[in-house]
Amino acid sequence: MKICFATNNSKKLEEVKAALGADFEVVSLADIGCQEELPETGDTLQHNAFQKARYVQTHYGVDCFADDTGLEVEALDGKPGVYSGRFAGEPRSDERNLSLLLERMAEKANRKAAFRTVIALLMGSESHAFEGKVDGEILQHRSGEEGFGYDPVFRPEGYEKTFAELTLLEKNAISHRGRAVRKLADFLKTHQAGKTP
Ligand code: IMP
Repeated sequence: MKICFATNNSKKLEEVKAALGADFEVVSLADIGCQEELPETGDTLQHNAFQKARYVQTHYGVDCFADDTGLEVEALDGKPGVYSGRFAGEPRSDERNLSLLLERMAEKANRKAAFRTVIALLMGSESHAFEGKVDGEILQHRSGEEGFGYDPVFRPEGYEKTFAELTLLEKNAISHRGRAVRKLADFLKTHQAGKTP
């Protein structure tokens, strides 16, 4: 089955391809000739995920899914949340976002945080949402080179390593995005099976 994942983030694409497996041919925005930045002006992850997917379906006429992810930090009242990508302002920079997070967390004793992902799927006139969440904590310092974004400072619950110290497969097994993608895959497989004569 061929489906577009509405992202320009090569790390996300890699994670999602690995999580969906060989039953699915996942094409990126670049593969369908979409170079522009997708709109995401909402104040919820779900709104933004659907906004991105809708844009691609409308302008490129393909079935697709889009994700939106937020890091929710307890000591920062759930921030940066839906604004995780623009935490340190425009232009977006993972490095500046991470530095700002460490600065804001410097004096905080409560280090609890969670990553949450919403995936919006548009297939013809059908729309569906899938959510994944992982609890963990924010470390004082960066550790690890894998992954992207806030990975070097996020340690998932029950682990001694940050997301940036895990392999792609280890991260996918427990991550917010991995969990949401597995729900998407289950749905797509059932949907496909229903269509088979
Ligand atoms: P978006 O889903 O691309 O809008 O991501 C929002 C922000 O969260 C960006 O700064 C990303 O770098 C960051 N982010 C998204 N997914 C992850 C992840 O799996 N690990 C660490 N940071 C992430």
